[in-house]
Amino acid sequence: MTAAGELLSPPGSVVLVRLLRLRWSNAYLLLGERPVLVDAGSPGDEAAILAALAAAGRGPRDLAAIVLTHGHADHAGAAAALRTATGAPVLLAAGDTAMAAAGRNLPLVPTGLEARLVAPFVPQDFPSVVPDEVIEEPLDLGRYGAAATMRPLGGHTRGSAIVELAGGDVLVGDLLRGGRLGGRWRASVPMTHYYEEEPSAVSAVVDRVLADGARRLLVGHGGPLDAAAVAGWRRHRAA
Ligand SMILES: [Zn+2]
Repeated sequence: MTAAGELLSPPGSVVLVRLLRLRWSNAYLLLGERPVLVDAGSPGDEAAILAALAAAGRGPRDLAAIVLTHGHADHAGAAAALRTATGAPVLLAAGDTAMAAAGRNLPLVPTGLEARLVAPFVPQDFPSVVPDEVIEEPLDLGRYGAAATMRPLGGHTRGSAIVELAGGDVLVGDLLRGGRLGGRWRASVPMTHYYEEEPSAVSAVVDRVLADGARRLLVGHGGPLDAAAVAGWRRHRAA
């Protein structure tokens, strides 16, 4: 990817979204009043994320918050290093704080054969991170300078959260994924994620996001996903 990442929002949006395609996962830079990072990549991804911040014309100390959609190694992996570099607080939903503090993925509940095959190659360990803010209720991220709401709803993991933006983009972490091979193949095709700790909650959260009028789902691997395509995927999924 280019240092600045891909601009996903039309110019003039209240919050500009930049997609950073990192080695194992996506992270997103929300550029509103102040920059907010959603997801922190894998261990070692801090350099690429700080480079994206710099390409957006912001310094490390400008970062207002590091929001984690969940506590897996490829989303929380560089959170501790980024907090040290920026001073920004880490926000994580309550259900995943034990995993983040342990610095190890557990438990991974595979949804199929591909998940079992991929597992040995995916990062599992990461520097421990204790969140500065443990999220148990919907949180207005306006206090961090982003017109967005973080909602802890579970699904992929017990402590999974989504981030809703004005205008219809919803960052959903690993609720589902786009395409295969980390989004390198058919990135815009919605697919069941490799792991689901709470499968019925995954369905419920997808239903809710669609009912709330989402236009696009921005995912942790591959994507973006159009809401209509996600609705089609959802119809083929057991309730
Ligand atoms: Zn995950």
